[in-house]
Amino acid sequence: MKGLYLYMGDHFYSANKYMRERFGSKVYRLSLDGGMTCPNRDGTLGTGGCIFCLEGSGHFSEGIIGDVSLQIEKAKKRVAAKAGNDARYIAYFQSYTNTYAPVSRLRALFMPISERDDITAISIATRPDCLQDGVLDLLEELSLKKPLFVELGLQTSNESTAGYIRRCYGNSVYIDAVKNLKSLGINVITHMILGLPGEGIDDMVNTARFISESGSDGIKFQLLHVLKGTDLAEDYEAGLFDTLSLEEYATILECCIRSIRPEMVIHRITGDGPKRYLIAPLWSADKKKVLNYLNRRFEEDKLVQGSDCIKNNLE
Ligand code: SF4
Repeated sequence: MKGLYLYMGDHFYSANKYMRERFGSKVYRLSLDGGMTCPNRDGTLGTGGCIFCLEGSGHFSEGIIGDVSLQIEKAKKRVAAKAGNDARYIAYFQSYTNTYAPVSRLRALFMPISERDDITAISIATRPDCLQDGVLDLLEELSLKKPLFVELGLQTSNESTAGYIRRCYGNSVYIDAVKNLKSLGINVITHMILGLPGEGIDDMVNTARFISESGSDGIKFQLLHVLKGTDLAEDYEAGLFDTLSLEEYATILECCIRSIRPEMVIHRITGDGPKRYLIAPLWSADKKKVLNYLNRRFEEDKLVQGSDCIKNNLE
């Protein structure tokens, strides 16, 4: 079966391959701001946000929906040089919780994008506890007009770590969200963080397996970044935990990749936090060096996605 998904000499089923197979060419993400907030911030569940989440830096701007058409044009200009004339684009709502608004507001935000010929697909990042019935109905309607990805920020399946990071929902909420989205034919991508305080390699591999077994179509691996202005930075500066070295990150990442279904799409193998806020680990700022190192390790270690995958038992 793996041959269906992995090409000769490759180590995992990348988003690039998936997009080319599905849409016939490379697809560029256009990061858009839907002007949302988050129940972890507005007082509904909490006010401080997740412990690692950057606040008040201008990285996010919440509240007012800017002109999304204008945002699309600006974002297209940013990638124009590498994208070329026949580029395909995904409208990507990344910041905050992009289904945390009345359905009428979400409809006004998303539906016009589904009518655009220059947008190939839509990707919406949100929390699993922000997918109530009316929102699911809207997402289904949207998915019938444009290919739709919904990205869920799980981060960890360790409930104790989830408490520490102030995720504010239980694992069962995530499982139900994946089931509900998949029952509507919507493609689900789950985010997990490697290097959360107190977690060992077993915890992280357990999270990767948990995501794989949930039925999620894709996964994004993100290195934990300690960013200025976050509560996590205070714990880091107090010496309560250390961040991963590049070598440790590669080892853990490989174990996670081996533990997930071979047909799961890996949309990200690391991540680069905003450099001006980065406290640690500083090696992560050199993205090229990181990717080169990871590729070399994958080659040396003969990495094969799913080689340690345990059969799904949650479906
Ligand atoms: S990481 Fe996401 S869920 Fe957590 S506070 Fe930030 S926007 Fe909200």
